[in-house]
Amino acid sequence: MSLNFKELANKYGTPLYLYDFNHITNQYNELKTAFRARKSLVAYAVKANSNLSVIKHLANLGAGADCVSIGEVKRAIKVGIAPYKIIFSGVGKIDEEIRTALELDILMINVESDAELQRVELIARELGKTARISIRVNPNIDPQTHPYISTGLHENKFGVDIDTAKRMYIQCKNSEHLDPVGIHCHIGSQLTQLDPIKESVKIVADLVRNLKAINIELSFMDIGGGLGIVYDNEKLIDTNEYAQSVLECMFGLDITIVCEPGRFLVGNCGTFLTKVLYEKVNGEKRFVIVDGAMNDLIRPSLYNAYHRIEVLNDNKEFSSCNLVGPVCESGDFFGKNIELPKTQHNDLVAIYSAGAYCFTMASNYNTRGKVAEVAIEDGQDRLIRKREVFEDIIALEEEFIK
Ligand SMILES: *Cc1c(COP(=O)(O)O)cnc(C)c1O
Repeated sequence: MSLNFKELANKYGTPLYLYDFNHITNQYNELKTAFRARKSLVAYAVKANSNLSVIKHLANLGAGADCVSIGEVKRAIKVGIAPYKIIFSGVGKIDEEIRTALELDILMINVESDAELQRVELIARELGKTARISIRVNPNIDPQTHPYISTGLHENKFGVDIDTAKRMYIQCKNSEHLDPVGIHCHIGSQLTQLDPIKESVKIVADLVRNLKAINIELSFMDIGGGLGIVYDNEKLIDTNEYAQSVLECMFGLDITIVCEPGRFLVGNCGTFLTKVLYEKVNGEKRFVIVDGAMNDLIRPSLYNAYHRIEVLNDNKEFSSCNLVGPVCESGDFFGKNIELPKTQHNDLVAIYSAGAYCFTMASNYNTRGKVAEVAIEDGQDRLIRKREVFEDIIALEEEFIK
């Protein structure tokens, strides 16, 4: 793909997101194949990259959607994902979102607290419906990842403990308006260790068996997402081993496995292309300033995340520098103290592994328009989101100027 970078930058301008759709296909098929021994649903975690064409591509492959807002649910439905493949998660659903989810008749609402369960029941009663729900269990397992993307410990805000979950299932069983169909756990993101996943799936499977013993039969076991990808030189979880260990925990249970990968499916499909504006030296410190910034791709600023960076020129003279954007924040950087070759105005810089949690976290900070997104599939490129212009940014304010 790297051969076309210059051409694509000329055609679409920079900064620019490029997504290799064939990579997404391969990742999806790898995971789906790993679970082939069972009924399974791969529900794409839409928040990783919610471009409609990305979701549509996954829909065509057969994926469902894991959504964390009603807006994401609507995106999934917009591109043709069937409601019976859509899950709605999140710790803070507002009434209107719950109502819409019930009206759309999605597969299940993934409930994250006792208080939420009461709201869902109330709203379902008002609508004269029965809400299909799953309960998110917090297994209190340390996923051994970055604290900001760790969710499976009691100190995190997600899910409920096992005993609370059990009580909630019993309430569901006794309610006309609640139908407990699933159970869910998601312990964190960018996981590279299999053991914490195994442990939490085991805890969840035990609860499924306990519930079965009291005649609460669940149909879906949702093991969450979180599979890591290579940004640098991480050693990854083998997808077959992952599937195998999950299936082992489920032995004897007649239950459909659901997984919710986001990063795994799209993270390494993406490249962020940006152009060198200037180089400068402050004292001893070399800075390379590019046209992309933290508002376009915030992971380095937010998590101190590593992205592999490559300057696309032939210069062999490398030295240490910070690669930074034009935004007025010292936190606006893509890499600190990294070795890059001497650059010139307009040299292209590729920032890799930019398919997940990059564009979706973009903002208009500094009145910078969100950049264009381009899909590449079977050697063909096509625009999938226009570059925002000034008029787009001010559109919702303009009429109110007094
Ligand atoms: C974010 C999220 C995911 C996806 O996480 P990845 O690390 O991108 O796979 C899955 N499930 C839930 C509930 C999430 O919040």
